Amino acid sequence: MNKGLIIAGNWKMHKTAGESAAFFQELDQLLESENYRDDLTILIFPPFTSLAAVRGITSRIEIGAQNMGAHEQGAFTGEISPLMLKDLVKYVMIGHSERRQLFGEDDSLINQKIRLTLSHGFTPMLCVGETLDERERGRTLDRIASQLDLGLAGVTPEKVQDVVIAYEPVWAIGTGKTASPEEAQEVHAAIRDILKKKSHDANKNFILYGGSVNPDNSGYLMNQPDIDGALIGGASLKIESFFDIILNSSNPVRQ
Ligand code: PEP
Repeated sequence: MNKGLIIAGNWKMHKTAGESAAFFQELDQLLESENYRDDLTILIFPPFTSLAAVRGITSRIEIGAQNMGAHEQGAFTGEISPLMLKDLVKYVMIGHSERRQLFGEDDSLINQKIRLTLSHGFTPMLCVGETLDERERGRTLDRIASQLDLGLAGVTPEKVQDVVIAYEPVWAIGTGKTASPEEAQEVHAAIRDILKKKSHDANKNFILYGGSVNPDNSGYLMNQPDIDGALIGGASLKIESFFDIILNSSNPVRQ
């Protein structure tokens, strides 16, 4: 069974509430006017401050949160709880490399957050990926296996099946360098193999590729058998490039 593709945009710390709403409206109009594959999930992770503004604009675009606190409530200044996100989003991104590197999030905290998202009925997107140094030392698969082991610890196989994995080589994020489709496929196949021991049915897990995806490379990446979509940073901020990626992923022969 073809489970489709997820094309996701990570807006990071960009766009005000008004700019986010305008983007959703414009993209919705484009989506209405074009044929794109009907098994495609289009998902955007705006900043927290835009979530209320984009909610309800269209059912063609799913909404996600870029992060979530590790507790339900309490004295955690500046944190956002699952209870606050419940009516706003379906997806929650956990463990983006910027959270790991710039905000010191470790695998144990990430695991706590993953379990909390699942207990509240969200679909978590767990981000994993190696640094350039790890890749050059031949440690890519070890690093990813350990991020998956620790990040998914204590999660039942039925729930693991619901977790979306985003493979994002750290050296490819925001750098313009991207893994070749073959390099990415190799890691995705290894991730699928690891998930076979953890997930009720690893073929149902979505495994997205992220790292300098753009309209020129997206179709090739999406053609790989174990790549089930893309997580896109920079190119998701402009409507033209994000929409082109959607079209190219729907119809890779356009490339
Ligand atoms: C990201 O931030 O998840 C990402 C993949 O960014 P970019 O597409 O800009 O490399």
